Amino acid sequence: MNTRSYVAMGRRSLLAAGLGATLPLPALAPAWAQATPRAPRSVLATVAMVGDVVREVSGGRIRAETLIGEGVDPHLFRPTRSDIARLLAADAVFANGHRLEGRMGDVLDRVRAAGKPVVLIGESVPRDRLRANPDYPDAADPHLWMDPSLWSLAAAAAAEALSRLAPDSREAFADNLARFQARLARLDAYAREAIGTIPANARVLVTAHDAFAYFGARYGLEVESIQGLSTEAEANLAAIEALVRKLVDRRVPAVFAETSVPDRAVRALIEGAGARGQRVALGGNLFSDAMGKAGTYEGTYEGMIDHNVTIIARALGGRVPPRGLNGRLAA
Ligand SMILES: [Zn+2]
Repeated sequence: MNTRSYVAMGRRSLLAAGLGATLPLPALAPAWAQATPRAPRSVLATVAMVGDVVREVSGGRIRAETLIGEGVDPHLFRPTRSDIARLLAADAVFANGHRLEGRMGDVLDRVRAAGKPVVLIGESVPRDRLRANPDYPDAADPHLWMDPSLWSLAAAAAAEALSRLAPDSREAFADNLARFQARLARLDAYAREAIGTIPANARVLVTAHDAFAYFGARYGLEVESIQGLSTEAEANLAAIEALVRKLVDRRVPAVFAETSVPDRAVRALIEGAGARGQRVALGGNLFSDAMGKAGTYEGTYEGMIDHNVTIIARALGGRVPPRGLNGRLAA
């Protein structure tokens, strides 16, 4: 906080006391102001899910911004020169890790070399809670935000890291974390209930890339995808053919596109099933590796998961409230 805002606060409190017109403003910061926490620091998060955790836990005490925007695939994201400048200018960088930000390794090394903390919140979750990554034995499946109980652990790690960055705010961060974790527990309970209403034969989630294994394991959905854990490899025709057979055999009513992945291959599935006489709908666009537009409910972690749960359950024949857990989903 700078001197000007101390003065502004001083003016407000004087006005509140009805003395603004008669007393001069204090020229220097009063003693009470000197005891307030030091100026907020800035954190730049790679993906929006991580940025949301930083925002929730810091509660405005630390400026939280996100590098990778709406609809952008983090597996393929390469920072531009101005992105690199932003990364180097932040007081700390928070990322998911487990190679989600697959093409940012060198840049994160540069941030570390510049003496700035790089906090990989996904890598703080105990390894026995995580799923393997067949492409990279040294990393786990990075998509752990799809299970709110795991994301809750990642949020705790973020709170610890933020407390090291701003020790004066440790208690506030702990309070904010507890409130956020309570909301995640409620979200988790909603997801379990909603997915549980899907008829057993249709509990198959078919998506463009393999981002939903944690989600499926948590809520009892079989998960199939056209591409693997990363979007870097091309989808192959044999995989599409095998998925078409499964859709037909199981009479699965819908498949799903993702906002950060082209939907070409998903449409090929729908056409393939149609050619075999099975009508499969496009169930909607899921938020897999990117959240919705900043400033909207779907642009928060809670809204992202609520959106996914609600449209998956509805498209596969389950029963859910029209606008989701909080009545806030876009109609
Ligand atoms: Zn992914």
